[in-house]
Amino acid sequence: MSEAFSPAPEGYQPGKTKFVVVIGTVMSGLGKGIFASSLAKLMQDKGLSVAPIKMEGYLNIDSGTLNPYRHGEVFVLDDGTETDMDLGTYERILGQDLLRRNFITAGQVYTEILERERRGGFLGRDVQMIPHVTGHVKMRLRELAMTGNKGRPADVVFVEVGGTAGDYENGFYIEALRELAFEEGPGSACFVALTYILEPSILGEQKSKAAQLGIKRLMEAGVQPHLVACRAKNPVTNKVMEKMSMFSNVPMKRVFSMHDRDSIYTIPDAMRSAGLDREILSILSLHDRVDTGQEDRSRAAWAAFSSRLAAPRKHRVTIGIMGKYAALRDAYASIDKALEHCAISLGTEINLKWMDTSDISTVSQAETLLAGADAVIVPGGFGTRGVEGKLRCVEHARTKRIPFLGICLGFQMAVIEYARNVGNWSDANSTEFSANSSHAVISELPDQKSLEGIMGGTMRLGAQDVLIEGGTLASFLWNGKSAIRERFRHRYEVDPKFIADITRAGMIFSGKHPLHPIMQVLELPLSAHPYFIAAQFHPELTSRPLTPQPLFMGLVAAAIAQQEPDFAQSEAGRRWVRQANSGKATAVSA
Ligand code: GLN
Repeated sequence: MSEAFSPAPEGYQPGKTKFVVVIGTVMSGLGKGIFASSLAKLMQDKGLSVAPIKMEGYLNIDSGTLNPYRHGEVFVLDDGTETDMDLGTYERILGQDLLRRNFITAGQVYTEILERERRGGFLGRDVQMIPHVTGHVKMRLRELAMTGNKGRPADVVFVEVGGTAGDYENGFYIEALRELAFEEGPGSACFVALTYILEPSILGEQKSKAAQLGIKRLMEAGVQPHLVACRAKNPVTNKVMEKMSMFSNVPMKRVFSMHDRDSIYTIPDAMRSAGLDREILSILSLHDRVDTGQEDRSRAAWAAFSSRLAAPRKHRVTIGIMGKYAALRDAYASIDKALEHCAISLGTEINLKWMDTSDISTVSQAETLLAGADAVIVPGGFGTRGVEGKLRCVEHARTKRIPFLGICLGFQMAVIEYARNVGNWSDANSTEFSANSSHAVISELPDQKSLEGIMGGTMRLGAQDVLIEGGTLASFLWNGKSAIRERFRHRYEVDPKFIADITRAGMIFSGKHPLHPIMQVLELPLSAHPYFIAAQFHPELTSRPLTPQPLFMGLVAAAIAQQEPDFAQSEAGRRWVRQANSGKATAVSA
């Protein structure tokens, strides 16, 4: 292979890692990420090392500046990369932490190429879309293949191409993947076309023409799919599956109906029942890498989860979430998922009420807004809109002993509310919202950040260790652990010069940076409130179906316990509801 045309990392062995490529046709927004991650899970369950990568066509370097209203939430990886929310889907379904190498945008590709061009890295050649841009994409994929996951090279790289086949902006990805499949050799790549079967209500039947044309688009780009997955409202009829098979040269056993289901968590099992996992093993000659013992263990764990998912819900709680993006749930996708994980784990129905606080200016308005809420979440956010309303909601939750969880901005709100109403500093605020407060308890503090090597006014991004104080609610929730690792994305923080006064007023900072006076978890003592806790990090980003995040578990459990006092004595209650003797019990066992 000539380096100029198809670079590969040192020591790369073509054909060793296999590639599964998922490309959408007809339209986007079909759940390509859910499909690809479920497929990856089936392979991971078999003991194979999997590494997903999402390819974005846009020119942004990352998702950091994207408006969550338009694009859904910004997901933050352990290494601080700000990505598309789909990376969250992969992390949750695979239970695997991803890194920058699992996310690629056209902006990254072009920047890396242009920087190399300026350094003279192309030896006098003209730099072209083909072979240089496509070559760079192949290089990134091969690097990912070699680094894989946790030091183990990938058996299978799962590639999700953003947008749909035929989009101008992702054409170079599809071309790069076509070249890669050819260069790696037969049996190295499996292309999956994810398409959509229309079912217009005026006709009352499924129509496959748009799907057929979409797949033709992919074939025009030189890609013959090996598998076709048909998204549809209802199970895809045999007639339509036969047409799809016939017109895309894909045998019937490799055409899959991915119709709407009650829960995405049933998709891996549905794929397995349809035999998709075995088809992929055959297409990629992977049968001999399967670890059946591992597969049995993974399936048993998932089956236990699935049966909790299907079991009737014993409890019911309503949670109010105060967010200015109330109109768009995708803006809080991970919170939604984190609560879903708790609901399944605790056998509870959770009724979420998204609330816009822009019009709230008094506590009694907050009380009206929150009527019927058994728990309150103030999530992350930027900018002044709705902030005063959120403060009134925190006050209501604190004084009326309603279980409360503050996240990032919500943590800062809890500090400000406490400083104003308990500390009696009536103008306490954050410098994000007011430049001239005499008690700017939340502030930007570039000097403090420089201690950690964070530049100027930029954000604290990515995962860090948080030390947990023993004997606290936080310590109870994390089962006595003294250090945890959570993900941050914020610019402002508690100004250390107020810590002593806030603590004297009764607020406990139970989670802190290991070295510097950076406050990361706050709480109120049990004598003051059954469940009042907040985190400067984003706990929702690390919740997983099989291991729900403790702050959310505690919130939901506290809400249940307030309605059903007996719940506290149940097994789940003893684990998640802090009671007068829980702290001591933890201290003894820890
Ligand atoms: N706006 C706040 C800050 O920058 C909170 C950020 C957030 O909630 N993610 O610190």
